Amino acid sequence: MPTPVDMLTAELQRLEELRTFKYEVPLQSAQDGVVRVNGKKVVMLASNNYVGLSNHPAVRKAAIQGIKDYGYGVASVRFICGTQDIHLKLEKKISKFLGTEDTILFSSCWAANEAFFASLTNESLGMESYKDVIYSDRLNHASIIDGQRLCKAETTDRKIYKHADMDDLLRQLEQDRTSPYRFRIIATDGVFSMEGDLAPLDRLVDIARTYGALLFVDDSHAVGVCGKTGRGTPEAKGVHGQVDVLTGTLGKAIGGAAGGYISGRKELISFMRQKARTYIFSNSLPPSIVYGAGAAFDLLMKNRSIVKKLHTNTAYFRKKIAGLGFTILEGDHPIVPVMLGEAALAQQMSKELLKEGVYIKGLWYPVVPKGEARLRAQVSAALSTADINRALAAFEKVGRRLNVLR
Ligand SMILES: *Cc1c(COP(=O)(O)O)cnc(C)c1O
Repeated sequence: MPTPVDMLTAELQRLEELRTFKYEVPLQSAQDGVVRVNGKKVVMLASNNYVGLSNHPAVRKAAIQGIKDYGYGVASVRFICGTQDIHLKLEKKISKFLGTEDTILFSSCWAANEAFFASLTNESLGMESYKDVIYSDRLNHASIIDGQRLCKAETTDRKIYKHADMDDLLRQLEQDRTSPYRFRIIATDGVFSMEGDLAPLDRLVDIARTYGALLFVDDSHAVGVCGKTGRGTPEAKGVHGQVDVLTGTLGKAIGGAAGGYISGRKELISFMRQKARTYIFSNSLPPSIVYGAGAAFDLLMKNRSIVKKLHTNTAYFRKKIAGLGFTILEGDHPIVPVMLGEAALAQQMSKELLKEGVYIKGLWYPVVPKGEARLRAQVSAALSTADINRALAAFEKVGRRLNVLR
C-alpha cells in the first residue's frame, strides 16, 4: 500500500507536468503598471488592477488613515462587536454606486458567493415542502459553483445552461414552466475571466422577469471596469439598477486588497445578515481595507477619467496587438486573450516575454479546453502609452521568434 505521502508525491509529479498553478513569479514591489521581478522592472499585464488603484496614493493614504482612526483589526464578527460605523458607511456607498437598496460586506467575494445560494434555498420559510431551481452558466466562477454545492439536494435542483446561450436557458425554463418551484434563480458571471466576454444581461433581465426568476450576477471582473462610469456589466448592457442580486469583490479593480459583497433588495440583504454563515461566523473587514475600498469608490465617482483611461488603453492595446498579427478574442473588456493553441507554446511564450520585460500569464488545459491555450493580457489604467508600447514591442519580437504571427 502506498502511503498518503507517496500518493501526494505521485500526484504532484503529474501536476508538475500540467504546470497550471505552479510557476509563481514573486513581485519585489507593489502591484502597479510596472513592477519589479528578478531585480528588473517589467510591465504588468496579468493583474486585476484594472483602474490602477492597488497602489494609488489616495487609496494608500486612506488605508493608513483607517488604521489611525479605527485600529488594525476588529477582533470580532459583525454581529458580536465587529461592526464599526465605517462598515455601514461603506455598505451605503456600494449601494449608491451600484444603484441598489442595500449591501452586505464579506471578507471576500468567495465568501459572499458561498453564502448566497444556501442561505436562500436551505430555508423552508414556513413552507411544509418546497423545491427551488438554479440555472447556472457553464463557465461560472468556481465560487458560484461551490456556493451552489452547499444547497441541499432534496430541496434544490441545479441545472447548467450552455455558456451565454439564451436559447438553451429559455428551453430549460420553458420545460420547467409548470413545475411548482418556489424560487427560480438564474446565476451568471457579469464578465467571464477566461474569455473576457460579458454576459447578455439585457436579455437575462428580460428573461428573468418573464419567468419570475431571480437574477444573480457576480460582477467581480466588471465593477470599476465596465460601463461608461465603471458601474459594471449592468451599466455596459443598459440595465443598471435592474439586476436583482449583485455580488462582487473589492480585491480586483476596487483597490485589490480583499473583501466582497452582496447587493440588492433591502429585504434580501437583511435576510442575509441573519442567515449568511460566512458573514455571521467569520471576521469583520479590517479598517484599513474599509477605508481603502471607500477611497477607491470615491475616486471612481469623482473622477470619470480613470475609467476612461482604462477604456482608451484597452482599445489601443486590442487594436495594436491584433495589428501585429496575433489572434485575439474580440471584445472590449481589458481581458484580452491572445490565442496560441498548444500549452507548450503558451508556456514558452510567457517565459520569453518575462525575459523581455512583460509579466503575463498563460492559461491552458484544464483551465481552458485542450488546444485553446492562450496568454491572457489584462490591460490597466496604471499603464502609460509608453508602457503599452514597450509590451507590444516585446510581443512582436517574441511572436516573430516563435513564429506565431499571422
Ligand atoms: C475573483 C473572483 C471571485 C473571488 O473574489 P475574492 O474576493 O478574491 O474571493 C469571485 N467571483 C468572480 C467572478 C471572480 O472573478
